[in-house]
Amino acid sequence: MSVRVRYAPSPTGKQHIGGVRTALFNYFFARAQGGQFILRIEDTDQQRFSEEALQDLYDTFEWLDIHWDEGPDVGGPYGPYIQSQRSDLYKKYCDQLIEEGHAYPCFCSAERLDQVREEQKKAKSKIQGYDRHCRDLDPGEAKKRIEEGEEHVIRFKIPLEGKTHFDDLIMGTIKRKNEDISPDPVIMKSDGLPTYHLANIIDDHHMKITHVLRAQEWIPSGPLHVLLYKAFGWEAPQFCHLPMVMGKDGQKLSKRHGATSLIQFREGGYLPEAIINYVDLVGWSYDDSREFFSKEDLEQLFTIDKINKAPGVFDYKKLDWFNGQYIRKTPESEVKPLIMPYLQKAGMVSNPVTSTEDQLIDSCIPLIHERMKLLSDSVNLLKFILTDVNTWTIEDLLPKKVEVSEVITILQSAKEALAGFEKRSVEENEQVFHDLAEAKGWKLGNLMMPVRVAVTGTKQSPPLFESMMLIGSDVTMKRIDGALKFLQDNENGDN
Ligand code: GLU
Ligand code: ZN
Repeated sequence: MSVRVRYAPSPTGKQHIGGVRTALFNYFFARAQGGQFILRIEDTDQQRFSEEALQDLYDTFEWLDIHWDEGPDVGGPYGPYIQSQRSDLYKKYCDQLIEEGHAYPCFCSAERLDQVREEQKKAKSKIQGYDRHCRDLDPGEAKKRIEEGEEHVIRFKIPLEGKTHFDDLIMGTIKRKNEDISPDPVIMKSDGLPTYHLANIIDDHHMKITHVLRAQEWIPSGPLHVLLYKAFGWEAPQFCHLPMVMGKDGQKLSKRHGATSLIQFREGGYLPEAIINYVDLVGWSYDDSREFFSKEDLEQLFTIDKINKAPGVFDYKKLDWFNGQYIRKTPESEVKPLIMPYLQKAGMVSNPVTSTEDQLIDSCIPLIHERMKLLSDSVNLLKFILTDVNTWTIEDLLPKKVEVSEVITILQSAKEALAGFEKRSVEENEQVFHDLAEAKGWKLGNLMMPVRVAVTGTKQSPPLFESMMLIGSDVTMKRIDGALKFLQDNENGDN
């Protein structure tokens, strides 16, 4: 039987790392097995469903360039792929469960249920949850009350005795005593919509899903799902619960750790290739050494048996490193369109760009290509080339243990030495600075650093001489003069 897997999100919020990892594992497993990957929207909780979240889901996977074989937008033989459009099917099967004695209507009011809970709490009762008050109502009586329009939900009968188990492909055998399963969960709400459990298993069955790869937090629902499959007389799919995604502190990854939603990574300057590669390594490894995997590699290499049982740790620094590597792998000619939106957003180039700006950026790219971890780093790296520098700080301009007056001398000599620098090669200019430092008995760094800060406004910049070539001699000299004036004003102020 051909593998069929699904990603079944409930769009209530933005796509986050955990969800995307579930989707990727499903996608790569399907591709590697020559099977199908399906998107199903689980929107039975209409109060929490959001259109915006659904759009974010489409945008996220479009950006990642991950596509499903069947889904709401592309159709397929087992649609509709949105649960709110499948109500009739759920109703039909819910009726069947009632008919066959596996489910029953419950007329208990919210007040009554609250009271039951209070009493259980007071009595420190071992049994928590619904007290099965309506389980043994006479079916004829119950039917009459429904026909009279009495509000009710439908509950599933959990067997009172025995055990239920399933064999998870990662976690091994999971066993529960039936008495430990939530007593008779609601499968159909009073609004006539199914709960997650009922809809989920009916759909997995009808969509011919063979493997359920989902987050570990769904393990407790497993036994209930198995009992539902049994009640229908259907074969359950293979379950495969994925290890948790943790922060470095061992806590479940959350906003406290940093960005978690994909849109934040997208806007923050990450490349989809880096996200796919790194997120896949959180809880999966090919062997002990290989780290780089393209989407195409994973489409062939991904296997379930290499998913770890232990939680995966999401390391933001490691992701940044991967991202830098992927920027390096991107040919220079393709970097410009990637950084342009960041430069435009920062107001550093016009929108649309002028041809002068365009050419300037072309010449900048070799200087920053090796230095970016995030695409957004281009803003800081190019600021001094694309915008003016006219403020400095004493702190930045003064090397350690060097006085203002000395830095003034240094900058004045540097300026003289720089005369005509544009006509010399980078190596020649470096030699000029070497010779100057030697002649004056200065450390090379004590010469370079003030010049760098004067010209770029920052201590961290792309290579200095290359940068000066780009901004040209006039601007370079003007900035050194500006910094000199700033220092002189400060020197006088000190006296
Ligand atoms: N709708 C559930 C979720 O949002 C799906 C769980 C499952 O895959 O069964 O996680
Ligand atoms: Zn009841």
